[in-house]
Amino acid sequence: MTAGISKGLFLTGPREFEAQERILPPPAADEVQLAVRSTTLCGSDLHYFQKGCNGSIEVREPLCLGHEAAGEVVAIGSNVTNPRVGDRVAVECGIPCEACDLCLSNRYNLCEKLRFRGSGSAWPHFQGTMQTRINHPAKWVHLLPPEVSYDEGALLEPLAVAVHACRRAGVQPGSTCTIIGAGPIGLLCAIAARNAGCVKIAIADVVADRVAFAVEKTFADTGFVVTSKRAGSPEESLAMARDTAKSIAGLTLVNGSTLGPTDYTFECTGIEVCAQSAIFATKRGGKVVLVGMGTPNVSLPISDASAREVDIVPVWRYANCYGEALQIVEASRKDSSGPQVAEMITHRCEGVVNVAEALALAGCPRDEDGKMVMKVVVSNKS
Ligand SMILES: [Zn+2]
Ligand SMILES: [Zn+2]
Repeated sequence: MTAGISKGLFLTGPREFEAQERILPPPAADEVQLAVRSTTLCGSDLHYFQKGCNGSIEVREPLCLGHEAAGEVVAIGSNVTNPRVGDRVAVECGIPCEACDLCLSNRYNLCEKLRFRGSGSAWPHFQGTMQTRINHPAKWVHLLPPEVSYDEGALLEPLAVAVHACRRAGVQPGSTCTIIGAGPIGLLCAIAARNAGCVKIAIADVVADRVAFAVEKTFADTGFVVTSKRAGSPEESLAMARDTAKSIAGLTLVNGSTLGPTDYTFECTGIEVCAQSAIFATKRGGKVVLVGMGTPNVSLPISDASAREVDIVPVWRYANCYGEALQIVEASRKDSSGPQVAEMITHRCEGVVNVAEALALAGCPRDEDGKMVMKVVVSNKS
């Protein structure tokens, strides 16, 4: 096989892309070559697009974004027997070293040498999936059954985050949870928590549309719309957080019972007042799972957490979660009465050349026609 071409848009600065055609060598012995078919956009793609960086991670050379992806195998390296050409796979975009203590103890998400596609953290940057072709280690792709779509394959990535969050929390059957933030990660945490045995799920957000969507599509059993306002002081922030937690705990479920503080709270926004609410919304002896990121230094009511033994559990990506994520997608497909993972995709852009347009849309709460934007997928037929 001779070298081919991969076409993509590479980020060169805030809201600036350059179309590039890069030479792609044939896949190495342990790699597969994929035609990328679907990439769903995520908050980190959006940060890079809007600011040219993601928190402290800077873009130092043109960067192709995208890390929630699925594609078709178009070529395989000489050592690869599985998958085969023509197979449809989801791409696990983080490649760990497989040799350090953390890799050897199944916590490869924490590997210091991990390279992650579409992120500026590795040098040279490990280019993302918003391009037509990539070579990827065969070990880090996951075969999709015929009924699972490329879009659903792409969503296995954020779903893996949610599965990992539930594992870190140790979600028990018969438990209850609150989810703060009704964006895609919040919805996926709801699905994963339900799958792990959660029986009552409440969701909260400042955006009424999102809360309504989550409840209507049965991701959550009940929802609360938080009044959006800025706290003038740390005391005011804590008072607001307490009020929100109290309102959530007071929610009524379909059977007429009151929710009460929950066993787990998944904080999916990364906003300080939300993390504070998460502690107050959690039962004595319960757990707060910090899934959302974005505020590097957060002030938390630690004495309240201590006095009630509310554990605070941070999560970083995922390790060995794609299998369970795939099971969840398959199970949800079989039960049409429950939430469907792919339902959160509200908008589609065809072709990687339209990435900038897709990202601009993903940054808006609603499209031009007033329809809520939840998750945008960039699909690619070529
Ligand atoms: Zn992501
Ligand atoms: Zn490692």
